[in-house]
Amino acid sequence: MNRHSKVHVNGRTYSWPNSPVVVLCIDGSEPGYIEAAADAGVAPFFSKVLSECTNRLAESVIPSFTNPNNLSIVTGTPPSVHGICGNFFLDPESGKEVMMNEPRFLRAPTIFEAFQRAGAAIVTITAKDKLRRLLGHGLKIGERGICFSSELADRATLIENGIADVPEMVGLDVPDVYSAALSRFVLAAGVKIMQSRRPELMYLSTTDYIQHKHAIGAPAANDFYKMLDSYLGQLDTMGCTIVATADHGMNPKHDDTSAPNVIYLQTLLDEWLGAGVARVILPITDPYIVHHGALGSYATIYLSKISNATNLSKRLSAIDGMELVLDRQSAAERFELPPDRLGDFILVSKKHHTIGTSLDRHDLSALTEPLRSHGGISEQRVPLIMNRKTNLAQGLTLRNFDAFDLALNHAI
Ligand SMILES: [Zn+2]
Repeated sequence: MNRHSKVHVNGRTYSWPNSPVVVLCIDGSEPGYIEAAADAGVAPFFSKVLSECTNRLAESVIPSFTNPNNLSIVTGTPPSVHGICGNFFLDPESGKEVMMNEPRFLRAPTIFEAFQRAGAAIVTITAKDKLRRLLGHGLKIGERGICFSSELADRATLIENGIADVPEMVGLDVPDVYSAALSRFVLAAGVKIMQSRRPELMYLSTTDYIQHKHAIGAPAANDFYKMLDSYLGQLDTMGCTIVATADHGMNPKHDDTSAPNVIYLQTLLDEWLGAGVARVILPITDPYIVHHGALGSYATIYLSKISNATNLSKRLSAIDGMELVLDRQSAAERFELPPDRLGDFILVSKKHHTIGTSLDRHDLSALTEPLRSHGGISEQRVPLIMNRKTNLAQGLTLRNFDAFDLALNHAI
């Protein structure tokens, strides 16, 4: 096999790994969750990594949502390069709101595709199926290219996913999509496959079901990190270089009475401008909205006509709970986003506020706990830890999409 010593992709260069590299994206892992589990004495692997190995903070991309950040991590680039800047956007060609989880929206190859071409075996496992096809884009599915979700693990086939009979191999039933067990399945499958195949690169991505419901240090949160810890400990024993990071953080978004803090932006704009002039798109919207009711801290507005943009921007900025209002170009520059997939304005709400459309369009009946969510600058800080020491200087601003760079180029 022609194994290159270096792999080049998206303007970055990665060294060939001496031992398997596992990057884990812990969905919604606000800094403090890992530490709380370590302090509670239930996470010996994390404890060791935090105190003896690499323990850094990094910045996620904005919007601090799942898909943009997962795609940044697996391409090593910001959304301005890979093109995925939310779950939803308004397709300028059709004028319709469309999901951005189709591989045709991806504008850059993944690190996996480049390494596979250089001879590496690749395994990617996600909790929710919405990410699977994006992460697997460009990958040759087969013995050396495995890609499946725990959500649809029982439907995995050799042709579509490179692996079959997954629940039997893992020894677990396919869990409910709204459960901590969905993430456990990802880790359990990762360990089994590492034991049998030892791929060069493995990417594991969980769901933030627990983090949406439980604060840092809560018993259910500590149990979740204890579970992650036990599987990571096994991968560590197998000699893997492990980097764990997150796609975004998570914060409480409710008031003292536990009612969600929501800016109903479509309602406001209809009052100000008349119906039909402004269209609010919430890129957090996806088919799995039970735990956040499609409420996050980021929104974009499309205007059918712009009469007085400066005045509108001022009015939007003055809304109680609003952190930042930017026009398309400024947002694209500041957050490294693809301008052609943004509305006329980008809005970010404050730490404890969310942005919605109108009251009747959010089903909050399934929110059994006070709202916790993400999307804003307040959820940009995430952990970036590794079970090796690093030669990266202290004080550098790291991004979560430096995860593979850290594991492949800077582990010592
Ligand atoms: Zn997420």
